[in-house]
Amino acid sequence: MMQPYISINPDLFTKNAGATLSIDLNAIIKNYDLLNNKTKMARCGAVVKANAYGLGMLPVARALQKTECKNFFVAYLDEGIALRSILGNEYAIYVLNGFYPYDAKTFINYNLTPVLNDLKQVKLWVQICKDANFNYPAALQFDTGMSRFGIDINDLRIIQDESISPFIPTLTISHLACADDLNHSLNLIQLQRFKAFIHHFPSVPASLSASSGIFLGENWHFDLTRPGAALYGINPVPGHKNPMYPVVTLRSKILQLREIPKGATVGYGATFTADKALKLAIVSTGYADGFFRSLSNKICVKHIDHPDIPLPVIGRISMDCLCINISPLANKKVMIDDEIEIIGLNCPIETIANAANTIGYEILTALGNRYRRIYN
Ligand SMILES: *Cc1c(COP(=O)(O)O)cnc(C)c1O
Repeated sequence: MMQPYISINPDLFTKNAGATLSIDLNAIIKNYDLLNNKTKMARCGAVVKANAYGLGMLPVARALQKTECKNFFVAYLDEGIALRSILGNEYAIYVLNGFYPYDAKTFINYNLTPVLNDLKQVKLWVQICKDANFNYPAALQFDTGMSRFGIDINDLRIIQDESISPFIPTLTISHLACADDLNHSLNLIQLQRFKAFIHHFPSVPASLSASSGIFLGENWHFDLTRPGAALYGINPVPGHKNPMYPVVTLRSKILQLREIPKGATVGYGATFTADKALKLAIVSTGYADGFFRSLSNKICVKHIDHPDIPLPVIGRISMDCLCINISPLANKKVMIDDEIEIIGLNCPIETIANAANTIGYEILTALGNRYRRIYN
């Protein structure tokens, strides 16, 4: 069997790691149930691409096996192979990014379902099915507004002219571009385009919505939904209260305590100058751990014993550590080895994402590989 490239070795960085990443698998299960219950007519699938958004495909997929989830989505063939070895054969695994001609056999061997994303892929898959006289499962994607993957209405005509028998897709899909903005006009336009498209495949289940699309309402649900981010606790309705259970906690340790006089500068580039004497702590997370350098001087973290007191990250974030101003803790006892919350209930992913001018998705998928990982 081909070796999947994703290997999880929880023993690699254990008690000697600088920081601990805790992933609440129960919260992922609760998030699945919440999303599944929200879509009465549709089944809920799960997107576990990019190593389950950085949280670990193996433990996440195993947790989701305790739910009603029967349909999984990954981006690449290798991820599909890895997931097949985790899940066994009774689950559908869709590979969103399509397939290369030379990969067709591997898809079939591992019982993976490609999402056919252009006319060439459709024609090739049809030929494979014709040659084998077998309708190998494949999803058909329609481009309704992303201009990324999927056939357009002209392609559809060509397919119909050439008669795609015996090929019938097992799923029709499209992807929403602006679902995180409930009022965006493209949501309705894409819905209408999708309906016009699936009209040609009346007996085939349809799938339009990822995490945010589920919250647009029943019209967007169709037969199968494809949430990723919301399963992992990311807010699917930005600007509104996050309905999801939090999944990720990242705690780092204090490596060193220091006091600096007024006028001292902190870190590379001397981007921070103390305007008075300060107490600092050096903390064991850096940009190599996915805590972006662009967050320098822009974000606060919390001492776990004093979660209500924001501690500013000052100076540039280094590769392996960052510096925080602990003067706001005043006379409270702070020691080497104390834990600092970087991500968690008191330091929401959304706040970090906003400060880094990005989205929670990028914060999660950037999480480094040298944390001690705890699944509970
Ligand atoms: C990544 C992806 C999803 C999941 O999106 P979320 O916003 O994380 O829920 C669903 N469908 C497609 C096609 C994707 O690429």
